[in-house]
Amino acid sequence: MKITFVSTIVGAAIWIAAPAFAQVKPTAYLHNLHSHNDYTRNHPFAMAYGLGFGSIEVDLFLKDGELFVAHEYEEIAADKTFDRLYLKPILEAFANSSDGFLYPQNGQLQLLIDPKADGDGVLKVLTEKIKPYRDLFDSKNNPKAVKIVVSGNRPQPDEFRLYDEIFFFDGELNKMYTDAQLERIGLFSASFPKFSEWNGLGRLTYQDSIKVKTTVDSVHSLGKKFRFWAAPDTKTTWYEWLKIGIDYINTDQPMAAAEFMRTYPKNNHQNDVFYKPYMPLRTGKTVKHPKNIILLISDGAGLSQLWAAAMANRGQLNVLNMPYTGYLFTGSTDNYHTDSAAGGSALATGVKTRNRYIGVDTSGRPVSNIPDQIAQQGMVSGIVSNDRITGATPSAFYAHVSERGMTDSIAGQLQDSKLSLMVGGEHRVFTEEDSSLMKGLRAKNVEVVRGLEHVTHSKSDRLLVFAQDQVDREWDKLKEDQNSTQTAYRLIENAFQPAVSFLEEKGADKGFFLMVEGAKIDGGGHSNSLPFTITEYLSFDRMVGQALAYADTNGETLVLVTSDHETGGLVLLDADKHNGHVVGNFATTDHTGIPVPLMAYGPGADLFQGFLDNTDIAKRIYQVLNLSVE
Ligand SMILES: [Zn+2]
Repeated sequence: MKITFVSTIVGAAIWIAAPAFAQVKPTAYLHNLHSHNDYTRNHPFAMAYGLGFGSIEVDLFLKDGELFVAHEYEEIAADKTFDRLYLKPILEAFANSSDGFLYPQNGQLQLLIDPKADGDGVLKVLTEKIKPYRDLFDSKNNPKAVKIVVSGNRPQPDEFRLYDEIFFFDGELNKMYTDAQLERIGLFSASFPKFSEWNGLGRLTYQDSIKVKTTVDSVHSLGKKFRFWAAPDTKTTWYEWLKIGIDYINTDQPMAAAEFMRTYPKNNHQNDVFYKPYMPLRTGKTVKHPKNIILLISDGAGLSQLWAAAMANRGQLNVLNMPYTGYLFTGSTDNYHTDSAAGGSALATGVKTRNRYIGVDTSGRPVSNIPDQIAQQGMVSGIVSNDRITGATPSAFYAHVSERGMTDSIAGQLQDSKLSLMVGGEHRVFTEEDSSLMKGLRAKNVEVVRGLEHVTHSKSDRLLVFAQDQVDREWDKLKEDQNSTQTAYRLIENAFQPAVSFLEEKGADKGFFLMVEGAKIDGGGHSNSLPFTITEYLSFDRMVGQALAYADTNGETLVLVTSDHETGGLVLLDADKHNGHVVGNFATTDHTGIPVPLMAYGPGADLFQGFLDNTDIAKRIYQVLNLSVE
C-alpha cells in the first residue's frame, strides 16, 4: 500500500516536471495512416499522434516485470518503457482533450500492440497497467477510448476469450474463426510479399492488383479492416492503397505520409462536367497579315496545369487543337521567377523588367505597350480580366508604374490609355463618384458602368465595365482555403462575345486587339488546390474555344494563347482521362520559372513557334502587323 502511494507521487511529479511533452490535440485526424517502426523515434507517440495518425504500432518486450518498447531484446533501454513512451502521453492527451476525444472529428486511436516474445506475459502486465484507466481503453463501450489490437506474438483464436474484452486481435487470412472469435478480431493484416513482388513504383501488375482487391473485398465483407505490412512505402503505394480501399496504410515515413494524406483532398480532382472542344477548320482566308489579334493569357498555367485540365476533360482541350505551339521563357530581369507585373509587362510591351514593375523598363522609364503602338494605325484595343481591372496583368496593357501596389496611380492611368474597352473587377478607388479619378475618367469620355450587359448597348467609344465572377464567397488568391470555392457565373466566358462585337464595331476596317486574362488559375497554384486550378483552366479553355470559332468565321484573326508564368510547381502523379480523375502535387506556393506553353492559330501563327522569350510576343505581333517599332 505504502509503495503504491509513493510511486503515485513520483509519477505525478514526473508528469508535472515534463510540460515540454504536453500532448496537444492534433489538428488533423488521418484515420487510415498506421505508424510502423515507432520505436526508432525519440518521442514515438508524440510524433505519430501529433501528425494525426489513426493507428500506432508498439513493439513490446517483457523484462523483469516491466514492459519495454524495443524491436530486439538486445535493444532494451532502461528509459524506453511503455509507461513513459505511451501510457503517460496517452493519459495526458485524454486529460488535455476538452471533449474527451483524442482527435478532431471524434477520431479514435488504435494502438497495435506487437509483443515480440511471451505474448501472454506481455498482455498480463499490460492488463494490470491499464486497469486503473480501463474505461479509456474499452473501445467496445466507449467511443472515445483507445482501441487496443494485439498483433505479433498473440494467443490462438480459442484463447481470445481468456483475455480482457478490451483487447482485440490482429486477424490472419489463413485462419478459421468462429463468430465469437471473429468478434474479437480488430483488423486483418497480411504480409505484402506473399501477394506481390511490386517495388512501389509504376503500378501493381494486373494479376497482383486483382489478388489484392479480392482479398481486401473479402475482409470488408466480414465487416473488418485491412492492413498490409512489409509493403513498399512510396507515394505511389499510398495512392494505390487509397484507390483499392485498404483501411490502414503502413508507413515508416510518418511526416511524408501525413503530408500526403493531409493534402490529398486538395491534390486530387474529380471532374464531372465534360465538354467537346472546338476543332478549328484551318480553312481561313490565306491573308498574310491578320486584321485582328486576340491574346489570351492563362495566369499561372504551365504545361502541368494545361495537361491536368486535359486529363480532367477526357483528354481534350481547345488549346490542344491549336496547330502552332511553342514555349515562352518567363524570367524577369531581377529574378528567376517572374511575378505577374514583370511577366505581364514583357507580354504587353516586349520589354523585360523587374518584378513589381508595370509598363516601365528596369530604370523605371515608361515603355509603350501593344494598345499604344497599334493605335498608330487606327486599331482599337480592349482588355478583359476576371481579376480586378487594376490587377498586374491587365494594368500592364495601360499603366506605367514601378510598384504594382500603386493602385491609385494605376487606375488614374486608365484615362490616357489607348484602350476602348476595359472589363474587370472593381477596386475601391473607383467607388467615389465625385473623386478626381472618376471626374478625370469622365473628362476623357470614359463611360463607367457596372454589369456586362452594358457592353452590348453602349454607344461610347471608351467603356470601362466593372464585372466579375460570381463566387459563393470572397476569393483571395493567396488564401489557402480555395478548394471549395464555387463559381456560379464566369466572367471571361460570358464577356468574350460582347467584347469582340464591341471592338469589331469600333475597329471597323482597321481591326482590333483583345487581351483576355484567366487570372484565377494562378490562385489555384498559390493555394495549392488542384480542383481550383483545373476548374479555372477549363473555364479559360472554353473561352479559347470561342476565340477559335470566331477566328474561323472572321478569317482574319490571329489567336494567341500563353501564360505569364507557372504557379505552384505542379506535377501530376496520376490521371484517368476516361473518368476525369486527376492527382497532383504542388512543390511550392510561389511562381516557378519553368517555360510556359504557347499556342497560335490564324494568319501569322507560324511566327509563334519554338522556344521564344516572353518579350517576343509583342515584338512578333508588331512584325505580323507590319508595324515598325523602335
Ligand atoms: Zn501569382
